[in-house]
Amino acid sequence: MYLLEVKDLNKKFGGLVVSKDINLQVQEGQIYGIIGPNGAGKSTLFNQISGYIKPDSGNVIFNGKDITGLPPHKLCLEGIGRTFQIVKPFGNKTVLYNVAVGAFARTNNRKEAFEIAEQVVKQVGLESKRDFLAKNLTIVDRKRLEIAKALATKPKLLLLDEVLAGLTPSEVDEAILLIKELRDSGITILMIEHVMRAVMALCEYVLVISYGTEISRGTPEEVTQDPNVITAYLGDDDDA
Ligand code: ADP
Ligand code: MG
Repeated sequence: MYLLEVKDLNKKFGGLVVSKDINLQVQEGQIYGIIGPNGAGKSTLFNQISGYIKPDSGNVIFNGKDITGLPPHKLCLEGIGRTFQIVKPFGNKTVLYNVAVGAFARTNNRKEAFEIAEQVVKQVGLESKRDFLAKNLTIVDRKRLEIAKALATKPKLLLLDEVLAGLTPSEVDEAILLIKELRDSGITILMIEHVMRAVMALCEYVLVISYGTEISRGTPEEVTQDPNVITAYLGDDDDA
């Protein structure tokens, strides 16, 4: 059984096709990558999997249950956690507080939420900055905080939306290690990523989409050699 299955998902914004017959199957314990040029519909796919947007048709099956169209807070309780491409922490609150807010999606108990937050802050390497205001964090630490907030919801499946964007090469290395640790701790990961070095290092399997449509799938090595993929990236000047 797959932990997550997306079946024939379709979504249009007006006349713009953002998901066209999208299918994917994520096995438990896997790190599964989604890549594709800017505007391909990657974040919109995450929004449909995590309940922020309803698909026009198709199904999302999680842990054997059809969860299509359920709202984000219900999916959070089912075990789907996510980060957002644009991070929006409470700037005037501490790192610990921001993470505890994530934990409140799981528990109404304040003490328990802060205990979870303490543990997760350590897990992502923000222990020494737990009392910093979020607005004073560097880019890499904002990304760590974003991951921590998602982890505080105790996900079985973690969706990571371009968490490596804007990081230096050594910060990318550290983040790769963190993502491996999360996987080793038993979390299944579905990640949208532009940093191909990280995709190569982390993902067992990759789905490539362009203009809302699958153009390739396979191991990172297979898809990066696929002429369809090489053509799709021509003219995408955003990344290396
Ligand atoms: P990606 O994450 O692959 O860069 P997105 O999923 O963010 O792409 O966006 C896919 C397309 O859908 C883009 O053309 C984007 O401008 C458009 N889009 C995203 N969200 C909305 C929305 N809420 N309403 C209308 N168009 C949207
Ligand atoms: Mg995106």
